[in-house]
Amino acid sequence: MSRTIFVTTALPYANGSFHIGHIMEYIQADIWVRSMRMSGHTVHFVGADDAHGAPIMLKAESEGITPQALVARYASERPQYLNGFHIKFDHWHSTDTPENVELSQDIYRRLKAAGFIETRTIEQFYDPVKGMFLPDRYIKGECPRCHAKDQYGDSCEVCSAVYAPTELINPYSTLTKATPVLKSSEHFFFKLSDPRCVEFLQSWTTGTNRSGSKRLQAEVLAKTREWLGTGDADGEANLADWDISRDEPYFGIPIPDAPGKYFYVWLDAPVGYLASLKAYCNKEGLDFDALLDPQGDTEQFHFIGKDIVYFHALFWPAMLQFSNLKTPDGLHVHGFITVSGEKMSKSRGTGISPLRYLEIGMNPEWLRYYIAAKLNSHVEDLDFNPDDFIARVNSDLIGKYVNIASRAANFISKHFDGKLAYLGDTQALAQELAQVADKVRQDFENREYGRAIRQIMAHADAINQAFDAAQPWIMAKGIGAASEDQKAALQDVCSRALAGFKALSVMLAPVLPVLTNRVAQDLFGADAGFQWPDAAALPERIAPFKHLMQRVEPKMLDDLFEPPAEPVPTPGGEALAETIDIKDFAKVDLRIARIVDCQEVDGSDKLLRLTLDVGEGRHRQVFSGIKSAYSPADLKDKLTVLVANLAPRKMRFGVSEGMVLAASHNDEKVDAGLYILEPWPGAQPGMRIN
Ligand SMILES: [Zn+2]
Repeated sequence: MSRTIFVTTALPYANGSFHIGHIMEYIQADIWVRSMRMSGHTVHFVGADDAHGAPIMLKAESEGITPQALVARYASERPQYLNGFHIKFDHWHSTDTPENVELSQDIYRRLKAAGFIETRTIEQFYDPVKGMFLPDRYIKGECPRCHAKDQYGDSCEVCSAVYAPTELINPYSTLTKATPVLKSSEHFFFKLSDPRCVEFLQSWTTGTNRSGSKRLQAEVLAKTREWLGTGDADGEANLADWDISRDEPYFGIPIPDAPGKYFYVWLDAPVGYLASLKAYCNKEGLDFDALLDPQGDTEQFHFIGKDIVYFHALFWPAMLQFSNLKTPDGLHVHGFITVSGEKMSKSRGTGISPLRYLEIGMNPEWLRYYIAAKLNSHVEDLDFNPDDFIARVNSDLIGKYVNIASRAANFISKHFDGKLAYLGDTQALAQELAQVADKVRQDFENREYGRAIRQIMAHADAINQAFDAAQPWIMAKGIGAASEDQKAALQDVCSRALAGFKALSVMLAPVLPVLTNRVAQDLFGADAGFQWPDAAALPERIAPFKHLMQRVEPKMLDDLFEPPAEPVPTPGGEALAETIDIKDFAKVDLRIARIVDCQEVDGSDKLLRLTLDVGEGRHRQVFSGIKSAYSPADLKDKLTVLVANLAPRKMRFGVSEGMVLAASHNDEKVDAGLYILEPWPGAQPGMRIN
């Protein structure tokens, strides 16, 4: 049965460029959408920029531009990321649009008419210089618990205490440094504590959707049980009402009949899903109201990160339910992306820039494949590991999958003029392929992408083994003079391998849309991309095989993690750097280090891997570009000087925890040697250099 499905990803906040976490979520959703479409379902897949709120207003102001101009700047760079990674939204919109104003105000009016909106007067910090109420993140002061200075208004980064901004000692506005004053103002609240809300959410969060699956993953359900109190002994919900208004100046949507009041950005952000769908419907001539009819058949799914579950599992369904709109059929919640087991950080050089990935010529489908291979239906973090990335792309994708076609196709083109033919029972072969493809299709639908990829690769292994066991290269010897039976046997072996390759291509189509389209059209002569039923349709002809995909060069991973290039030094004698005072110098923590061990690094002609004792009771690993001047034996047991507080840097070969000092000519082209520093005798590991 054909389904109609409305799919969104979380709306990115429009005060910055996409990072790799956004790209991961969009790839996850894009794979799901493509797979559902291959089953013949109608899917409307939309996104939008989340444009409102104080951070955007203030950032625009600091740049001397309007918030609209700031949002437009980021919106204009979205396509190069989305197109670059083959992420195909049907429509990309913004929350700062007439559709969103109309929908947000309409939802508000319906909630108000149903008795879910209440006004209360609250006291809040106000910046008297700036003339605005301050969001918690714009107030700093001394932590009331541990007395750390310069802590944010909502929590302490030193002792993790959570508090109200009014509890801060000596609070100040980060905008003007002024001391904020308490000022009262009327705010609008959405009554999440209303018994109707609690009752609805208890049923919505625990229930199943129209296709019979659970709306929430087990981990997400457990979280909502905590919030809803259904897991507590007393069974009491303790949902706080939600403050949905902000006072001017604010970049947002005006609240109807309330001059100077705006919707808090988190109210109109999810409404942006509907606004984007509406704009898309208008463009395509689709019936928006019919799609959102609560009694209609459209299914609605949101792909989001684990950090915004509260908004999507409580406020959002409740807002929709009580404004008589369709409620979501499910949330697809994912974890964060880490790099080599660590949280990504630009300053530590472990971030992956999606644009850099594309700029250095890495294939976007490698990343799509790698992410698919590591995703499952749970709320788990996904780790990007460079060595694992190289192995999965080169050994699995190219070594197992692409190789089948390159090996089998040549025999067919050379000896059989591109014609395939099978001996014996072709129905059994077709059935086998249909079965594997069906399991993989179900795994994609259930967002068990990693399991889907494992099944695909297991089947690729089976195809390769059967091909190797038949030894077609021996069968092909002297084939011109061979019997018809021998020719038919060779043709059968290669045809079966290519039928398998075609089925694997169908199964990989949601993940590798561009590559598999080329396979469908160039190799198998199809006029469009693959659909799921194509897996079991045995091919009858092929065109000559053309190269399909490059291997990953390990050097690319080095380039991916390399920090931005530094300015080119002046040739010859280098001018002295800018004068610093002693405090600047003291920031650099130089220590005596003993080189406990030194090894060459496999795959690098520049680096040596040093194991250093810096008197810390543990050893550090440091990679140093000194292989041209020293062999490991020269350095072992020597003392040297380490920059000990340099942020660790993730390299392809591992994490480098510091930098050893060496002298060289400023111009790399002048070969004047490279000289590592060595202290006078008597220095001990760990001593600080002042
Ligand atoms: Zn503290």
